[in-house]
Amino acid sequence: MSVNKKIIILLGVPGSGKGTQARFLVDDWGMAHVSTGDLLRALEVDPNGDDNDKQKLADMKAGKLVADDLIYKLAFAEIERNLALGKSVVLDGAIRSVEQAQKYNEFFIAQGVNDSVLAIELTLSDDLSFKRLIKRKVCADCADIIPYAVDNETKTKCEKCGGKLITRGDDNPTTAQKRIEEQGNAKLQPIVAYYRAGGHLVSVDGSQPILDVDTQVKKILTD
Ligand code: AMP
Repeated sequence: MSVNKKIIILLGVPGSGKGTQARFLVDDWGMAHVSTGDLLRALEVDPNGDDNDKQKLADMKAGKLVADDLIYKLAFAEIERNLALGKSVVLDGAIRSVEQAQKYNEFFIAQGVNDSVLAIELTLSDDLSFKRLIKRKVCADCADIIPYAVDNETKTKCEKCGGKLITRGDDNPTTAQKRIEEQGNAKLQPIVAYYRAGGHLVSVDGSQPILDVDTQVKKILTD
């Protein structure tokens, strides 16, 4: 499936479904997935990772935003690599402030893709964000996300790869609350306004069932 954009920016509060929707686009349409959260978690366990960079991960563990320079270093290299392969790139959580949005915009201009950018906001209340975060699980091996479902507590094995399902370190109630203060709707709206002002924003109700969100996102990308 060829999508009508080179860069898809998924915006939304934590737990709004950015990672889940990004994975549908990767699995079904072969898009490249750039999740800064995944890149940071990979750095954390990389024995060859730069020590200076690793020190900046303390903020992630505390539920705060990580230093911009580390985000740009990790994300821009991944985006550039995938654009060179001719892929469309879906950005998941990669832009969390207006300052970052501006910096990415400069990067998109330099890459010649600034005319092919679309931001999709997955809307969700802060309340639902909290509820979803403390109930979800992830695969320790393939990073697949198991969104909240009533039977989550009984699930132990990843259906995709057989890996062990765990609760992410920052999905505990204290850190989840902190993340919502730092990355909830109050912080998200100026970023949404930035893309709306540029005419590059579409919103989808992220509280709908996952497959309904998937259908709407894919429709937007092929209309
Ligand atoms: P996520 O997996 O997207 O929920 O991200 C996990 C954590 O990584 C966030 O709570 C932040 O601490 C950090 N992080 C991810 N993306 C960014 C970003 N674009 N800017 C700053 N910090 C980020």
